[in-house]
Amino acid sequence: MSGRVGGLAGGVELNGNIYEYGPHIFHASDPEVLDDIKTLMGDDLIRFDRTVKIKFMGEYFDFPLSITDVLLKLPFGIVVKSIFDFICYATKARFVKPEVETTESVLLESYGRTLYELFFKSYIEQVWGVPPSQFSPEFAKQRIPRMNILQIIEKFFKPFRNRVSKVERTERFVEKIEGEIFTTRRGFSLIAERMGGEIVKLGGSIHLNKKVTELFVADGRVSSVRVVDGDVEEILDCDHVISTIPINLLGGLANPAPDKKVLGAAEKLKFHGTLFVGLVVNRGKVLPASFMYFREISFNRIMDLSYFGIEVKPNHGTILIAEINCETSDFVWIEENHAKEIVINDLIRENLIAPEEILECHIFKASHAYPMYLLNYEKHLQTLLDWVGDLSNLQTIGRQGRFQYVNSHVAMKMAYQAADNIISSI
Ligand SMILES: Cc1cc2nc3c(=O)[nH]c(=O)nc-3n(C[C@H](O)[C@H](O)[C@H](O)COP(=O)(O)OP(=O)(O)OC[C@H]3O[C@@H](n4cnc5c(N)ncnc54)[C@H](O)[C@@H]3O)c2cc1C
Repeated sequence: MSGRVGGLAGGVELNGNIYEYGPHIFHASDPEVLDDIKTLMGDDLIRFDRTVKIKFMGEYFDFPLSITDVLLKLPFGIVVKSIFDFICYATKARFVKPEVETTESVLLESYGRTLYELFFKSYIEQVWGVPPSQFSPEFAKQRIPRMNILQIIEKFFKPFRNRVSKVERTERFVEKIEGEIFTTRRGFSLIAERMGGEIVKLGGSIHLNKKVTELFVADGRVSSVRVVDGDVEEILDCDHVISTIPINLLGGLANPAPDKKVLGAAEKLKFHGTLFVGLVVNRGKVLPASFMYFREISFNRIMDLSYFGIEVKPNHGTILIAEINCETSDFVWIEENHAKEIVINDLIRENLIAPEEILECHIFKASHAYPMYLLNYEKHLQTLLDWVGDLSNLQTIGRQGRFQYVNSHVAMKMAYQAADNIISSI
């Protein structure tokens, strides 16, 4: 549907620079995918050290939260209360299970009430527009690293254990903070371009800028799809279909339409959009870490490309990419000048840049950036997956396709599995 390969990992090209949808790092937790990417990229794959900081109460905290930071940087009274709460909740959790498990109950167990309220409650509400008590426990389990006593002990003993690289699972994937990560001089988009090149070399073809608008269903399979490119429409017959279309939109494309239960389930699954403000800054390095999280200003996360080794034009400058999580109906999503203005004003207020250092400012958007794991989303998702499962030649994969917070290497793994399924069905 876009003019570039790679989807969310492919980035956008604006005035000669590649802007990533949040710089994409290649995570190396699956040996099969890692081997393939190493072979494909050779020396162009660069090892990357991620540094993450959260700005809060005027201080920068490391993330995941470290005990040292909590002890040294929070006011003494809060530290005492946090430790007390942390021990109480961790102990209570071993004996009493909450009546309804939600993201709030998981975070209370992991952090105690004081740290939960300080670091997560209002932040989640600000970023997602929904309180943690309305999120499924899966949201906390898959998205937020824990800081419980067991994990601290585990971390202490880790250097003494053998590290065994395990095959990545695609279901209920949880991103690990540890482990090797990589980038390239042109970011993740270079990996996507090389993969695209290999597909063409092997005889495949890639149709850019084409949108699938209809799936024709007959005899329990997808017989053909309608594809639109501007005013030009085509009907393509298909033997097999692997879809990365957001799963909540897929049912609506089927002709004849699936039953009301499927369409009703699709309406219940929501995605959150992310609006990106990309700034070319006339300075080599701007932020004190590669990624920074803010909670009291217009954007929730910002990245500085100088840490990633990605080439920037002009070469003495850097690119900052600020993320605003919002609904696609929000004022900030629609009024792009307003988005630019609030981000620039906040960067100046935070003393990170001076107005005269800004060389360019661009907006780009991802409407289906984050699946929202609201309470009971699992049930609605299953209804949709069952419907897909009933169509013998249709597979749905990927972040939007499976409504899962997967990273790119897991989306690749899903594609491997989908290809294996086709091969074994022939
Ligand atoms: C802000 C952000 C930062 C991230 N950072 C990282 C990171 O650092 N490392 C990492 O590994 N992962 C990261 N991810 C996750 C990564 O982006 C996804 O895992 C990966 O892109 C999923 O690939 P996909 O093919 O499932 O989906 P996508 O990349 O979204 O691709 C879906 C494709 O389907 C196409 N499409 C959709 N509908 C239609 C239609 N009707 N017709 C035709 N085509 C259609 C889209 O145009 C797109 O090309 C991040 C995600 C976000 C949102």
